[in-house]
Amino acid sequence: MAKVAVFKCEDYNAGEILKKLKLACKMLNVDFSGKERILLKPNLLMRKKPEDAVTTHPEVVEATVELLKESGLDAVLADSPGGTYTKKRLEGIYASTGMKGVCDRTGALLNYDTSWYELNFEQGRMLKRIPFISPLRECDGLISLAKLKTHGMAVYTGAVKNLFGLIPGGQKIELHFKMQQLDRFMDMLLDIYLASRPMLSVIDGIVAMEGSGPSAGVPRKLGVLIVSQDGIAADFVASKIIGLKINDFPLLKCAVNRGLFREDEVEIVGDKLEEIMVKDFKFPGKKDVLFLKGLLPAWFENYIKGWLTPKPVFIHKKCIGCRECFNTCPAHAIMMLNKKPVVDLDRCIRCFCCHELCPEKAINIDRAFIFKTILK
Ligand code: SF4
Ligand code: SF4
Repeated sequence: MAKVAVFKCEDYNAGEILKKLKLACKMLNVDFSGKERILLKPNLLMRKKPEDAVTTHPEVVEATVELLKESGLDAVLADSPGGTYTKKRLEGIYASTGMKGVCDRTGALLNYDTSWYELNFEQGRMLKRIPFISPLRECDGLISLAKLKTHGMAVYTGAVKNLFGLIPGGQKIELHFKMQQLDRFMDMLLDIYLASRPMLSVIDGIVAMEGSGPSAGVPRKLGVLIVSQDGIAADFVASKIIGLKINDFPLLKCAVNRGLFREDEVEIVGDKLEEIMVKDFKFPGKKDVLFLKGLLPAWFENYIKGWLTPKPVFIHKKCIGCRECFNTCPAHAIMMLNKKPVVDLDRCIRCFCCHELCPEKAINIDRAFIFKTILK
């Protein structure tokens, strides 16, 4: 059985969160013995303030550092956020997301080492060799400190997808390009999860993000903290809370197909789920038109696909010409003309990295009318 602890948590208060984490560790029999240094991997997608609900809240990170300190362990905070993986970029992101403050207050170490290594992972389905940021090798345990959010491509992002940030900068872009089909990308995320082996996953759903996540959505208070040794099960419980069905959750569907997850093998402890679940959580909408596969003649299916497939749309009025989308597009589908991005949709692989990383919310995902209405 995969045990998942769920707690109501109304506010961002490190002291209160620490109490819940301790209780969760007791209920889940978390054992830190034999460990010395734990890598904490928060979701630090981009330079955002904690109240924007794009990144893991610093109070959750601080509570986890304190939890480790009480067990005599050192904490190292590291992430390879979206875009380039440089010391300068890390400095800006650590400062705005509150991570610098956490480390100043607690003595935890902030990682500025941008080197990486390759891990052999023979059992991987998509990746046999995985490039990981160096702190993963240097620590003897990993905790995924995820943010509960919607995601333009993956529908939902939490404990497992958070670990994509263990892949160094440009390598993430390359993997996006190699794994263009959604199910291949999800299988790759599962490979990363299995290879990095987090000993604990904590999902910050105190204030989540709904709508156009993972960066352009709207903060939504859910008041929940989810903790488990099984990151897939933790994501399942988070998806239940926000009303996402397994069939609409690509990562979980892949996990089921690979025999990595069974709903009847999850035990939920802590507060009552029914008191936390919400019925009106807003999602980005359906992601693809695979449901048409085989039902129509191939030429017509392709025509319909072109018409229905969501696409990035650039709002030039909001764009500040920062070139972030241009620099991070894995398919090189974006050109800058007169300092504004223009997309070549024939090259675009619909990864929505541009949407994810635009600091100005200047990129929308345009879905056909049918998706916004009938098929929602
Ligand atoms: S669309 Fe966004 S990411 Fe791209 S250049 Fe404009 S502001 Fe920057
Ligand atoms: S234009 Fe945007 S959605 Fe298309 S491939 Fe580039 S980053 Fe991905």
